[in-house]
Amino acid sequence: MATADDCIFCKIAAGELPATIIDEDERTLAFMDIAPATPGHALVIPRRHSRDLLEIGAEDLQACVLAAQRLARRMHERLDADGVNLINSCGARAWQTVFHFHVHVIPRYADDPLKLPWSPTPGDPEAIAELGDELRA
Ligand code: AMP
Ligand code: ZN
Repeated sequence: MATADDCIFCKIAAGELPATIIDEDERTLAFMDIAPATPGHALVIPRRHSRDLLEIGAEDLQACVLAAQRLARRMHERLDADGVNLINSCGARAWQTVFHFHVHVIPRYADDPLKLPWSPTPGDPEAIAELGDELRA
């Protein structure tokens, strides 16, 4: 299995660092985040090292998203979560701090304190359309 030197998530996948593992399959591993944003916050990683969303292969990405869905369902059923946020940070500018691809699976509760630093306000329709032109396949 591909690993990166000094990657803490590779070490968790290899069993060299402890983690509270809650789900695994051929391609993925899920474990509890040590600094939870809300109670039950978990991370899904591919076993194979990929730096981020730009680098990860399609099959590993698909497996991670399906694992995240399994956990989201469990959070609803077993933790009585009212909702779930899936978050992926790609690049330091986007808050990525561990450079092994991971999906945050964050259960949400009516009274939880989590605030993401983003409050949607209406955008400029022309700017939105122009950026849509830039991004269209
Ligand atoms: P990010 O900032 O999106 O790269 O997220 C990295 C996440 O990994 C943070 O939420 C950390 O709390 C979490 N984390 C870092 N080290 C560990 C570890 N050894 N076990 C579990 N979670 C970790
Ligand atoms: Zn790694």
